[in-house]
Amino acid sequence: MVTGAASGIGRACALALSAEGAFVHVVDRSRAAAQRLAEEIGGVAHLVDLSVPDAVDTLPDDADVLVNNAGLQHVAPLHSFPPERFAFMQRVMVEAPFRLLRRTLPRMYERGWGRVVNISSVHGLRASPYKSAYVAAKHALEGLSKVVALEAAAHGVTSNCVSPGYVRTPLVEEQIAAQARAHGMPEEEVVSRVMLERTALKRLIEPEEVARAVVWLCTPHADGITGISLPLDGGWTIR
Ligand code: NAD
Repeated sequence: MVTGAASGIGRACALALSAEGAFVHVVDRSRAAAQRLAEEIGGVAHLVDLSVPDAVDTLPDDADVLVNNAGLQHVAPLHSFPPERFAFMQRVMVEAPFRLLRRTLPRMYERGWGRVVNISSVHGLRASPYKSAYVAAKHALEGLSKVVALEAAAHGVTSNCVSPGYVRTPLVEEQIAAQARAHGMPEEEVVSRVMLERTALKRLIEPEEVARAVVWLCTPHADGITGISLPLDGGWTIR
């Protein structure tokens, strides 16, 4: 089961897991894109708004791989950050993963095998200004993932985070355009001077690179790995 699977990183994860033989539950609020992807990979689309807490109860409880990926960004100084937007982001990026874990872990425990991969971010490990809700949510997701790692280990279930820097997806393309307008800069300069200022590798990460890491965490090669955060960040977190 992949949340936010209709676009960007989630879509790449659904495609990569399907290519490895998984039957994929495509969870998203975007109807047309989710249905198109489900048809393409022979999975099933679930049209769910994860900001509605009970919505999770309509999803299957028998996933053996859960990729908590759905997320969104809002950039504003803390003193003018809309509280309702803050709460909305925590519901989608923290409460929905919690509720999905509550729902799916029992069946994983019954089977004695399960893989939880949470798509965190470099912002689960580092802060940036103006991203209070996002940084708070991703730090919370990192903590949640570690608790699951401890509770689930005895049941053959691992829980890890993959924590990317900037990935070339619609979420980031919108941010590039907005920052170019705000700084009066060409978009290429926003990428090289603003977004990649802190990274050693001066390029965006591709969604497929994140998906390969997710797939790897679900293979027997990664059976001994749990509770980690795998930074896929071009060296952002070195310093
Ligand atoms: P994206 O905007 O391309 O895709 C996000 C998907 O989540 C969309 O299909 C959207 O419909 C879905 N979604 C959002 N809110 C939802 C809701 N309430 N209910 C159901 N579905 C919902 O974004 P992306 O860049 O692919 O981001 C995916 C994840 O990766 C997010 O958690 C994001 O924080 C994380 N991430 C992204 C980057 C990046 O640079 N793009 C970096 C680090 C982490």
